Amino acid sequence: MSRNLTYTSLPLVEQPDVDERRERPKRGVRVVEVGPRDGLQNEPGFVPTPVKIAFIEALAAAGLLVVEATSFVNPKAVPQLADAGDVMRGVHRRSGVRYPVLVPNERGFDRALAAEVDAIALFTAATDAFAEANVGTSIDGTFARFAPIADRARDAGIWVRGYVSVAFGCPYSGAVQPSAVIAVASRLFALGCAEVSIADTIGVANPTDVAHLLRNAGTDLPLDRIALHFHDTNSQAVFNVATGLQSGITSFDAAAGGLGGCPFAPGAPGNLATETLVRFLEGQGVESGVDAAAVAAAVATLHATSGQYPE
Ligand code: MG
Repeated sequence: MSRNLTYTSLPLVEQPDVDERRERPKRGVRVVEVGPRDGLQNEPGFVPTPVKIAFIEALAAAGLLVVEATSFVNPKAVPQLADAGDVMRGVHRRSGVRYPVLVPNERGFDRALAAEVDAIALFTAATDAFAEANVGTSIDGTFARFAPIADRARDAGIWVRGYVSVAFGCPYSGAVQPSAVIAVASRLFALGCAEVSIADTIGVANPTDVAHLLRNAGTDLPLDRIALHFHDTNSQAVFNVATGLQSGITSFDAAAGGLGGCPFAPGAPGNLATETLVRFLEGQGVESGVDAAAVAAAVATLHATSGQYPE
């Protein structure tokens, strides 16, 4: 079958024939939608608040059970998401769906609490150089910021997700060893994170790198609580997902429409598109519960109504 030819040379998930694929028990994967936050923060211009709210609601309606909705960073630093509180107060939240918001410090956490969020994301890096450039402090510095937030989140019953960015390569310090990623991820779990997302922020990972990291991580990290966050800058994203699946990972981040681009490679793709991920999973016989066409429709509506994008 021609549809399998692309993959036959790689040690990917077994490709059953179509009838077999329909009937065999599904292995579920959770797709974590990051478009409204990780995508829109990197798009030029301000998407009107009602358009953001409609986008988030459409993504949840498409079957996504985690929709990272916005970021409570300093509005001066990320004006695209300056309306974070209004977005969170405006979204009609579905039961069974989490809407994490990125929180960089206690001030942001206070704003998030005021908007009655039920989930937050904490963002650090595998290298000091990236942390310094991105959030103005070292890795240790980010954990000093996180400690009081994590305590307060626990007391408030708020679900916490952690990010380890530049896990496969850093634009400032180059190659990143798995040991560095594992150390930071372990600290995030120790802090109380329910899930840690390991992110290829600059899109340099290939399946060999992913397998190498996960082989090393397997003894130190709970792989059932690890998510992988790939960028498609070098067209490797779905191959990396396949390697993750084979290593037992069941949570993958993606951004509807591939929103956001790549800040480190202007014009290149950034976040793996949710529709691409879902269709890839479908091709592998892996159920995500997400309707790729509905995600694509949500993106089309966003583009048509935001006033920032050509139709
Ligand atoms: Mg990203």
